[in-house]
Amino acid sequence: MLYDQIVLRYGDLMVKGRNRNRFEKKMLEQVKQALISYEDITYFKSFGRLFVKLNGHPYEPIADRLKDLFGIVSLSPVISTELDLEKIRLAALTLMQSLPEKPSTFKVSAKRAWKKFPHNSQEMNHLVGSHVLRAMPDLKVNVNKPDVELRVDIQEEATYVFYDVIAGAGGFPFSSNGKAMLLLSGGIDSPVAGWLALRKGLEVEAVHFHSYPFTSEQAKDKVIELAKRLSYFSGEPIKLHLVPFTEIQTTLVQAKSDNLIITLMRRAMLRITEQLAERNKANGIVTGESLGQVASQTLPSMNVIGRAADLPLLKPLIMMDKHEIIRLAERIGTFETSILPYEDCCTLFLPKSPSTNPNLRIVEKIESLIPNYKQLLLDAVEGTEQLLLSPHHQTAVQAAGEDSWF
Ligand code: ATP
Ligand code: MG
Repeated sequence: MLYDQIVLRYGDLMVKGRNRNRFEKKMLEQVKQALISYEDITYFKSFGRLFVKLNGHPYEPIADRLKDLFGIVSLSPVISTELDLEKIRLAALTLMQSLPEKPSTFKVSAKRAWKKFPHNSQEMNHLVGSHVLRAMPDLKVNVNKPDVELRVDIQEEATYVFYDVIAGAGGFPFSSNGKAMLLLSGGIDSPVAGWLALRKGLEVEAVHFHSYPFTSEQAKDKVIELAKRLSYFSGEPIKLHLVPFTEIQTTLVQAKSDNLIITLMRRAMLRITEQLAERNKANGIVTGESLGQVASQTLPSMNVIGRAADLPLLKPLIMMDKHEIIRLAERIGTFETSILPYEDCCTLFLPKSPSTNPNLRIVEKIESLIPNYKQLLLDAVEGTEQLLLSPHHQTAVQAAGEDSWF
């Protein structure tokens, strides 16, 4: 195997200051969890970077997995060698000779971080470059725009020889910035909002409102599928709360204020989510709203809806265009699932002309006239079913602590 390690870089901002230890600890936990099926892989930290020792495993599937984890700015498969010129030269030549595409030009970029090494960076560029050129006479040096930039990173513990720098997903590692509830519909937007929230280091618990039997079992499966996909990115199982919403929707319909029904439903969703947040120690609510996209997402609508909640409402997509959201959905692999045609609980009750400018006092008046409204909301909270989802598994969360396959 050519490469024996993968180096993970975090980006400067994150590794400075007081958060550094916490950040590095989270990062290591997250990487270990994502690679849990590889029993013999080991890890070590060095100067704000994390090294994954491959122990004979091919690097490709491992790098593929790691590039989707949050908190990693870039990664490189590397050959590590002793601090010895001949060994470094050999590693460099081996790497150049095994490149998948034969380059015509290259340059060596050596960096001597460990100053006791006898040759400085300039000398190393020359010493390594000339060795490669002697063995590969067709190759030429191009310092401005080489096909391959061969990097030689001289550290105290070893020298790392590599050329490939794979972009990571960036952001913060899982759960390094607290927990929020994610309002997850089966649509295109909310899974993308969830991904952006996870990327910011928020742990999320997803909340989905269903109107069974008006909405189908497939609609629920679709949301389960989306939540599973999100758990792939966090590297941790994700909790999905399935809230029975039929009773509330049919009650709200009886208020006979067709154009306010979406406003009323959204406020009910927020109230229920807030109670779930409290029970699960979350401090915010993430939604997939994007300004102006539909009637309930005008600023006046969002104002009236948002007043039903005290927790901060986090709306990562608020200023994004639909095509940008779709591009992200495709990139994170949720788009194909999102466009499956199953009915959402809100589309079922969609009025002909939903209000774009609801009146808060009227909305509050309607709610105050619903008999036992508080209890109705509480019943929905109590009737909520919880699933714990990993990319390939799902488990029902049961009070007795007994797990069952779903
Ligand atoms: P999405 O593509 O996420 O469904 P959308 O553009 O279709 O968004 P709406 O249907 O108006 O917009 O929903 C706005 C937001 O409200 C969603 O992004 C989601 O966060 C939340 N939401 C809507 N329906 C549900 C539901 N059934 N369960 C949970 N959250 C929901
Ligand atoms: Mg929707």
